[in-house]
Amino acid sequence: MPLADDIARAELALLRERDLLRALEPLRSPPGAEIELRPGERLINLSSNDYLGLAGDARIAAAFAEGARRWGAGAGASRLVCGDFPPHHELEDALAEFEATEAAVLFNSGYAANCGLLPVFAGPEDLVLSDALNHASLIDACRLSRARVEVYPHGDAAAVDELLETKRARRKLVVTDAIFSMDGDRAPIGELAASCERHGAMLFVDEAHATGVLGPRGAGLVAESGVHVDVRMATLSKAAGALGAYVPATRAVRDLLVNRARPLVFSTALPAAMACAALAAVRILAGPEGDERRARLWSNVRRFAAGLEALGLAARADSAIFPVVLGEPARALQAAARLRERGVLVKPIRPPTVPPGTSRLRIALSAAHTEQHLDATLEALREAL
Ligand code: PMP
Repeated sequence: MPLADDIARAELALLRERDLLRALEPLRSPPGAEIELRPGERLINLSSNDYLGLAGDARIAAAFAEGARRWGAGAGASRLVCGDFPPHHELEDALAEFEATEAAVLFNSGYAANCGLLPVFAGPEDLVLSDALNHASLIDACRLSRARVEVYPHGDAAAVDELLETKRARRKLVVTDAIFSMDGDRAPIGELAASCERHGAMLFVDEAHATGVLGPRGAGLVAESGVHVDVRMATLSKAAGALGAYVPATRAVRDLLVNRARPLVFSTALPAAMACAALAAVRILAGPEGDERRARLWSNVRRFAAGLEALGLAARADSAIFPVVLGEPARALQAAARLRERGVLVKPIRPPTVPPGTSRLRIALSAAHTEQHLDATLEALREAL
């Protein structure tokens, strides 16, 4: 039996050979539109999912600190055992009001929410249809559910309709990102919802990159589309600038998740202090300041899309995410290094995050970016590519 270290060395050598090795690199500054990585290295940051510029917000940090002083840093147990605190409930009530649902259920992360949620509704007798470009947490959720999983071509609502028509199962679920995390395009929510309704199937939408960004008060893609969706998951870690995730729900769905969603039952609760931080964040995100920040973000999106087009690069102004697909991992690494020399941080995205042959620069805009940041980035891209 090789020891862990031998296995690690061999696996790492393989990754290095394929240009797929990744490494941690801590920030030396709080998150924001400009960050410091190496000492003295100021960079325009286009790699955070901090769409509204709230991750480093002093008011949210103050709510976090105040919450920690009041409730401590650790929750001590899972919520069902002894880790449930008033801020969790206050946050869930605020989220239910924001979503105009009866209730909401908090999870420690989007990853945990997806892995908790899907197996509650799908099991071995069921069929799950999953978009080819769904996020890894949905892929893992599908595996955990032990349902039969059919992966449909990206964004292909006709393929979904055909599969729902022809396949037999106890329950059928369609699972999709709202905004695809590495491509920035939108799922065909209207068509998927209509198809699910026709076939009595459930639709499960992950709003991670849409909440706070799209829709009235930032309520997401489903709210913007005005369609009915059975189950949604939204994160508090991206536009809201905190940590955690939630599922807007009826009271019965809430009670079922509290009983059955394994990451909720078997994992220590999100610290109450983080619930305090997230509550402060949601109040900003859903209020007039959120609208102002969204207006700035979308103005940035339009300006940047026009700039990319002027460089001859395809650009879709569908979300705050812009992929520049380059192909092999080495090309993405090289382009990212050239951008970094020019003061621009865009981390290269390689398999398994994206399919082989589609390594890319993934540019994520924020309301905190100024026009100067965007123009400097476009100029750096022109030189680097
Ligand atoms: N879903 C999608 C579409 C995501 O992009 C992410 C995060 N990258 C997650 C879920 C997981 O969310 P969290 O980071 O809160 O675990």
